[in-house]
Amino acid sequence: MNKLFNLGWNDFFEALFAEYAPSGLKAARVAVEHRNYYELYSELGDITADKSGKLFYNTENDFNLPAVGDWVVIRPIPNEKKAVIEAVLERKTKFSRKRAGAKTEEQVVAANIDVAFIMSSLNQDLNQRRIERYLTLAWDNNVTPVIVLNKADLCKFTEETKSEAEEIAFGTPVHTISALNNIGLNELKQYFEGNKTVAVIGSSGVGKSTLINRLCDVTKMKVSDISLYKDKGRHTTSHRELTIVPDGGLIIDTPGMREIQLWEGGDGLAETFEDIEALVLQCKFTDCKHESEPGCAVKEALRTGVIDELRLKSYKKLLNEIKYFESKQNKKAQIDEKRKWKKITKDVKEKMKYKR
Ligand code: GDP
Ligand code: ZN
Repeated sequence: MNKLFNLGWNDFFEALFAEYAPSGLKAARVAVEHRNYYELYSELGDITADKSGKLFYNTENDFNLPAVGDWVVIRPIPNEKKAVIEAVLERKTKFSRKRAGAKTEEQVVAANIDVAFIMSSLNQDLNQRRIERYLTLAWDNNVTPVIVLNKADLCKFTEETKSEAEEIAFGTPVHTISALNNIGLNELKQYFEGNKTVAVIGSSGVGKSTLINRLCDVTKMKVSDISLYKDKGRHTTSHRELTIVPDGGLIIDTPGMREIQLWEGGDGLAETFEDIEALVLQCKFTDCKHESEPGCAVKEALRTGVIDELRLKSYKKLLNEIKYFESKQNKKAQIDEKRKWKKITKDVKEKMKYKR
């Protein structure tokens, strides 16, 4: 059982597992999902499980199938490093996205996350709106957020930027680090204590992989964890989406997580269409659809040839897609800003209450 605790096991899962324990079944945690099989961490070491068996034939939607970070109930296959997945234990937390299609369904991107590192880079202007969206994402999913500002080595105004983040953080801790130069990383260790699972979220290029590589540096491993880690060493070519941190705890980084950010955050839009977004700000009406409204700066730019029709078309298309995904993914995305903030304030107050 000790091994399981290193993988994030706790009383919550222990209680859920109780009904399975007597039948000789074991618990394992999903490290990565492949097309036809999963790689799992278990007390029997690293094993694989094919996507076959009752669970996979009887389950109608993806939501109930194992995702990275899930705890699953397995029936080990004797003398093989393999098992059959019998059930998925209820998730403590999850990040999910909607899969587009005729019938939209929830797809879990990662499960059982305790903490989210919301990462930004200090060599760019701080995007407060983006951080707010990530904070909401974390709070909505009962995941504890931590703001991490990376690339401190490239910034002359670290303290100022930190204050800008604190303005919108509602007491969420803000750390300034340099993942590349290994500065400030010790401060982040506390969030892994008690074998917590941390997900790293943030736009591409902010240094997520660099941070993960630093934290998972094998040379810093505790001797007691070597046996657990040795199995992992065998698959050096295969990339784990749930990685064991040598000092304790786990880190989640999945490609799916990057997608949920795009839809949830929608921040790709402003970057790709900076010119149009700038025009939109000049439209007379804030809710301008850029169709036939008077005082539309976008239409005007189109008329004078500053932007072209096709570019505007793809902008609108992307905008609609994002709206579609946001509304499917999270009904709350449609409520107005005011209500959103009311909720955040309430959540924070509640969290403070717990702390006392
Ligand atoms: P990701 O897309 O968020 O995973 O970002 P990467 O980890 O791939 O980093 C993107 C680039 O930023 C790489 O060239 C890194 O070397 C660089 N980088 C990451 N952290 C730091 C840092 O603390 N300081 C500086 N100067 N560069 C960094
Ligand atoms: Zn307009």
